[in-house]
Amino acid sequence: MRKPTRYVHAGSEPDPETGAVVPPIHLSTTFAQDGPGEDRGFEYSRTDNPTRSRLEDALAELEGGVDAAAYASGMAACTALGHLLEAGDRLVCEEDCYGGTRRYLTKNLAPFGVEVEFADLADPKAARQAITDDTDLVVAETPTNPLLKIVDIERVTEQADRVGAVSVIDNTFASPHLQSPLELGADIVWHSATKYLGGHSDVVGGALVWDDESLSEQIHFDQNSMGPVPSPFDCYQVLRGLKTLGVRMDRHCENARAVAEHLRERDDVDRVLWPGFEDHPNHDVAADQMDGYGGMVSFEVPNGFDGAQAFFELVEVFHCAESLGAVESLANHPAEMTHASVPADVRRELGITDGLIRLSVGIESIDDLLEDLDRAIDAAGRA
Ligand SMILES: *Cc1c(COP(=O)(O)O)cnc(C)c1O
Repeated sequence: MRKPTRYVHAGSEPDPETGAVVPPIHLSTTFAQDGPGEDRGFEYSRTDNPTRSRLEDALAELEGGVDAAAYASGMAACTALGHLLEAGDRLVCEEDCYGGTRRYLTKNLAPFGVEVEFADLADPKAARQAITDDTDLVVAETPTNPLLKIVDIERVTEQADRVGAVSVIDNTFASPHLQSPLELGADIVWHSATKYLGGHSDVVGGALVWDDESLSEQIHFDQNSMGPVPSPFDCYQVLRGLKTLGVRMDRHCENARAVAEHLRERDDVDRVLWPGFEDHPNHDVAADQMDGYGGMVSFEVPNGFDGAQAFFELVEVFHCAESLGAVESLANHPAEMTHASVPADVRRELGITDGLIRLSVGIESIDDLLEDLDRAIDAAGRA
């Protein structure tokens, strides 16, 4: 079956008992056994739950994996990655990553004795230097956040492979509709389901998907033992979101293209980051490994910090909010919001300037979005 068909049907086979086309949400925490130790596939909902199991099946299918684990958030999935390591192990992560990823790795994981290094994995030379023989785990996010660089998944996972490291791709920005990291050589795909998978800003969730059965035992053991599991209702919300993933992503891509091209035509906006531009430094990699350039666009408003403040006073259709990947358009000021936890000097070094604004372009009428941006950027110009 083709992708759009699978989005609608994966994990959503009618309920075997009643034929309900929308399967019931199984709220039960425990499951009656025919006798001690004789369960019917489920024992206790932390360990496994029928609704969660449907979501995990769907995600494994959509990412082309053998198995998946769902979590209460993207960061809960990230801590599950951390638990694949031991003290003394070494982790390399893309430097332009989600602010929360950097915070977890430096504040939570590193104190346990894991060596954490950040590198520009979109740059082949920097990646080669960072991924060394003693590297155990490589985490790359692509497109990166918020600078929208593209990491060559095939190259980086091959480098990880060569040194015997497990490779992880955070596929949150692209979603399985635009990018299939497991096919390109990744060992594990990581998602914040809060974003495009859920797609409606009404559920926080996360997932790992993998295609090597030998990972299943530890990941499911940890999932049960540590317990960072999503509620059945949250699983249902993500399952419902998945059904429209294809139509939503197509529209996100189309609107983001129009926004990027429009911003570029304005003389007062001199930095527009969108991997679909032919002169984007990693455009060829994006064209190769993605089936669309995604719904994210970053750009610099005139007049830096003051310009950004004026911009946020005037936007109406775009909400000033954290997060991304939902039907409504959101604008975020990384310096004050998503990347506020990144020290100012590191931010500057990374290119996250005070006037940088990250847009998650929604599925509204493009004319309303462009008018809204023009009005707000005009105000930034006067700041
Ligand atoms: C949001 C996000 C996360 C964290 O996910 P939560 O669901 O917020 O815990 C991780 N990676 C990326 C790229 C994200 O955008």
